[in-house]
Amino acid sequence: MLQERFGSRIHAFIPLELRKIEFGAITPKGDHIIINIAGRNLTSTDMDKFLDYPPVSALIKGLNLTGLDYHKGKYPIRPAGGIIGDRFAAVGDATGLIRPYKGKGINVALETGAKAAEIMINNGISASALSAYPGAFAHLRADFFYGRLFRLLVILSIKTGFVEQVMTMAKSDPYLRDVLFKVVSGEGTYHEVVHEIFSIKELAKLGFSFFRHLPEAVLKAKPSAGR
Ligand SMILES: Cc1cc2nc3c(=O)[nH]c(=O)nc-3n(C[C@H](O)[C@H](O)[C@H](O)COP(=O)(O)OP(=O)(O)OC[C@H]3O[C@@H](n4cnc5c(N)ncnc54)[C@H](O)[C@@H]3O)c2cc1C
Repeated sequence: MLQERFGSRIHAFIPLELRKIEFGAITPKGDHIIINIAGRNLTSTDMDKFLDYPPVSALIKGLNLTGLDYHKGKYPIRPAGGIIGDRFAAVGDATGLIRPYKGKGINVALETGAKAAEIMINNGISASALSAYPGAFAHLRADFFYGRLFRLLVILSIKTGFVEQVMTMAKSDPYLRDVLFKVVSGEGTYHEVVHEIFSIKELAKLGFSFFRHLPEAVLKAKPSAGR
C-alpha cells in the first residue's frame, strides 16, 4: 500500500502558509514512512500543522497514524572551527560540513571518519600531524558560501511567493528543472548550481518572470509591513 501511495519518490513540500517550516518531506522507507520538517525552533505543534497542511493530509489520508513517533533532531548549519587539536579530530556532524538542502550527513560522517583515520595512521595524532585534516575538506568549505547564497535566494522566493512561479516555469523548462533537481539530489556543487542559474539566458528568464510577479509580491508583503 505504501509503495502504491508514495512510489519510490521523496515527496518534498515548501509550505508557504506555515512560515516557520522551511521545508518538509515524506520519504517512503519500504514498510514505513518518515515525515520530516526543518526550520528554526520547530515543535510537535508545527509537525501537527504540517500533517494538517492540505497537500500533506491529502497524501497521507486513510493511513493509520496512531502511535506516530515524533523525534526532534538537530543538524549543523555552518562549518565548525577548531576541528582538530592535540590527539583529537572531530568527524561527522561535529565538523559542521553539511550542505543546505542536500545534507548528506552520513556521507560526510564516513568521509571525515575515513580521512581522520588515514591521517592518524600516516602522520600521527599530534596537532601538527593532524593539520592536514581540515584542508582535505576545503572543497566543502568553499561550497558553503554558495550554499548560503542559494538558501537566501530560496527564502526570498518563498517570502515573496516567487517560488510558485519558479516551479511553474520548471514544468516547461527542462534546464531549470535539471538545476532544481541538482539542488536536492546531492550531485555537483552549489557553486555549479548557482553558476548555472546565473547563466545569462536563465537569469533573463527568471528576471522577466520576477518583475512580472513583483506587484503581487508587494501586495503580499504589505499586511505584515506594519507589524
Ligand atoms: C531527522 C533527520 C534525518 C536525517 N536524514 C538523513 C538522510 O536521509 N541521509 C543522510 O545522509 N543524513 C541524514 N541525516 C543526518 C545524519 O543523521 C547525520 O549527519 C549523521 O548521523 C552524523 O553522524 P555522526 O556520527 O557525526 O553523529 P551522530 O549520528 O549524531 O552520532 C553521535 C553519537 O554520539 C552520542 N553522544 C552525544 N553526546 C555524547 C556524550 N556526551 N557522550 C557519549 N556519547 C554521546 C549520540 O548519542 C550519538 O549516538 C538526518 C538527520 C536528522 C536529524
